[in-house]
Amino acid sequence: MVHFVGAGPGATDLITMRGHKYLSEADVIIYAGSLVNKELLSYAKEGAEIYNSAHMTLEEVVDVIQKAEKENKDTVRLHTGDPSIYGAIREQIDLLKALDIRYDVVPGVSSFFGAAASLSAEYTLPNVSQSVIITRMEGRTPVPERESIRSFAAHKSTMVLFLSSGLTEELSKELIAGGYEKETPVAVVYKATWPDEKIFRCTVQSLPQTMKDNNITKTALILVGNFLGDDYERSELYNPKFSHEFREGIK
Ligand code: SAH
Repeated sequence: MVHFVGAGPGATDLITMRGHKYLSEADVIIYAGSLVNKELLSYAKEGAEIYNSAHMTLEEVVDVIQKAEKENKDTVRLHTGDPSIYGAIREQIDLLKALDIRYDVVPGVSSFFGAAASLSAEYTLPNVSQSVIITRMEGRTPVPERESIRSFAAHKSTMVLFLSSGLTEELSKELIAGGYEKETPVAVVYKATWPDEKIFRCTVQSLPQTMKDNNITKTALILVGNFLGDDYERSELYNPKFSHEFREGIK
C-alpha cells in the first residue's frame, strides 16, 4: 500500500500523528527533497529504503512503488505541506489506480498555515476579508487565463501566493493593476516554521525591492491584503450581545 503523507511546512513536529506513524513504519520512503525537511527522515525505521524524488520522473517514482508492491512493502510518498496544494499527487494516484495499487492520503499542515502561525495572523478578519485566494504567478506551469492575478486582485481579499518569489516585479504590477492600493500590506515568509525562517513586511509596491534587498528567490510565500493591517471589527460569535446556539446574548 502507498500512503501519500503531508510532511508539514518544515518544523519536524508539525507532521500529523498519523503521518508520523506511517513514516516510522514504511519500508520505502520517497520524499520531495527540494522542500521536505530531511530531518523528518530520522523518523524512518532502520533499513527503510529512501529515495529523493527531486532527481526522479513520475515514471521512476511509480517504478519504485511497483517494485515495493511486488515485495509486499509499504511505501510512504512524502510531500511538503499538504499534498493537495501544488503536490502533483493526482497524476501519481491515476497511475496507481491503473496498476491496481492501494493508496490513501494523509493531510499535512500547508505552508500557508505555517506562515499565518508565524505571523500570528488571521486571514479572515471581519469586515476586512472573508475569503482567501490561493494562487501562483504563471511560471513554466501555465495558469488559466481566467485566473489571472489581475482579475483576482479586483476582490482585494486575502491572497496567498505560492511559487512566485522569482516573479515579483510582474506580480506587484498585476496586483496594483487589478485593484489593490499600492500601500496594501504584504508579508513575505521565507521557510515558514524552519529554524532559519525569515519574515519581511512591505507593501504591494515595495515587494520587488524587498525581495531583491533580501535575496529571496525561493521557498517563500507572499501574503497580500489588509488582514495584515491594523483595522478590523470584532467577531459576532464572541460579542456579548450576540445570541447563538450555545449562548444567550445580553439584551
Ligand atoms: N504542498 C505545499 C506547497 C508546494 S509548492 C504546501 O502545502 O505548502 C512549493 C511552494 O510552496 C514554494 O515555492 C513556496 O512558495 C511554498 N512553500 C513550501 N514550503 C514553504 C515554507 N516552509 N515557507 C514558505 N513557503 C513555502
